Amino acid sequence: MIIVKAKYLITNPECCIENGAVAVKGTKIHRVGTFDEIKALTSIDKIVELGNAVILPGLINVHTHLDLTNLHNRIKPTSNFTHWVFQIVGARIRWKEDDYISSIEKGIDLCVESGTTTVADIANTEYSFSVLKKSPLRKVVYKEVIDLNPDHAKDVLKKTQSELSTIIPDDLLSIGLSPHAPYSVSRELYQTIAHFARETDTPVCTHIAETWDEIEFLTKGTGSFPAFLRQIRALSDNWQAPGLTPIQYLNETGILRNHSLLIHCNYVTDEEISVIKSSEASVAFCPRSHHFFGHTNHPVQKLLDAKINVGLGTDSLASNDTLSIIDEMKFLFLRHSILPNILLTMATINGAKVLGLESKAGQIKEGFEADLCGIRLPDAPVGNIVTVHPHLNLPHQGGGIQGDNKYSPPLVGGVRGGGELLRNIYDQLLDTTSKNIFTMVAGSICYQNQSG
Ligand SMILES: [Zn+2]
Repeated sequence: MIIVKAKYLITNPECCIENGAVAVKGTKIHRVGTFDEIKALTSIDKIVELGNAVILPGLINVHTHLDLTNLHNRIKPTSNFTHWVFQIVGARIRWKEDDYISSIEKGIDLCVESGTTTVADIANTEYSFSVLKKSPLRKVVYKEVIDLNPDHAKDVLKKTQSELSTIIPDDLLSIGLSPHAPYSVSRELYQTIAHFARETDTPVCTHIAETWDEIEFLTKGTGSFPAFLRQIRALSDNWQAPGLTPIQYLNETGILRNHSLLIHCNYVTDEEISVIKSSEASVAFCPRSHHFFGHTNHPVQKLLDAKINVGLGTDSLASNDTLSIIDEMKFLFLRHSILPNILLTMATINGAKVLGLESKAGQIKEGFEADLCGIRLPDAPVGNIVTVHPHLNLPHQGGGIQGDNKYSPPLVGGVRGGGELLRNIYDQLLDTTSKNIFTMVAGSICYQNQSG
């Protein structure tokens, strides 16, 4: 049995244990408590002391493209999405197998080093499956499917099924499908995938409501997409715009009824938010990628207020600087009035729910998978820290977790510290100098940097 201890242990966004420890047996969390309680257990093989750090549930990245990792700093920031796509295609035109593999491997390392224990990755090639399968990460890998020709729908699914038939899922790997986006997938292919995925309980995600161009494409058949798609001979001359907004369109194809993961939702109306809510789909919000493309304000608060399950994603390094979910939380903390406990909920509990893992990941709980990260805190002791950040004006009583911008003090018996303590720890956790120093997935230590 391994014991992981630190000055603080946040078992879920509302609960902090001072001098906390987690006992890990095999792949699972065996006991959670203060170190004084945990050290009384028998059969302890090893104690990992993280010192002035906080142990958190392993962070969950609900949207990334690890195969684009090596394009970091090679793509110019642009608000023109089709120009960005051209840059990506151009940059990878001479890539061979080794280039894809090294890009994915680099991405995996960056995730593990930043405390991410679970990723939802989009696989543009078959290499993502084989490389990620060997990695220590927990993952749902979604095979990207692209084809705008309605006559191809059934054959495309058959070919995809055949490609995926050689990949064996395991305790850490699930396989999903990602019909890419409404401007790259025909209505018929969305329908075919929706039907197949429901029959086979296959996870589905899709990029949606990402740009104004996409909305123009779907509602009126205008904007930059039709010309771009005809230039690459992907769109037939007799194609007609469906005359629907992105979420209406997805609803019509049936794909919303798959508990789907909707990536981005940068531009959705109040009416579309109601449709998402009633469909029980989740949303992947990628804050810094959203910023990279210069989009206007994301409706994240409206989605949270509507009690839609929203997780955090980094997207790829072709539109971001790191693959760290803590960096996404820090970015949001500085720029939006989202409370730290909500940010952590999005990065853990909501992320687990997005991927159907809520009964085994996203919290530090006895019987759950031992997915943990340890974040080194700034050096000043908690008692001396003066909370000055306006977003941390938290009340000391009441509140729930998901979607409520309210804060609850720890309520669990034996837990030390009240609202003030948790507030100070969040302040330090979201400090620019805090840094991941420890990552464990399914009871295995994947990364440890005590000097970090
Ligand atoms: Zn994406």
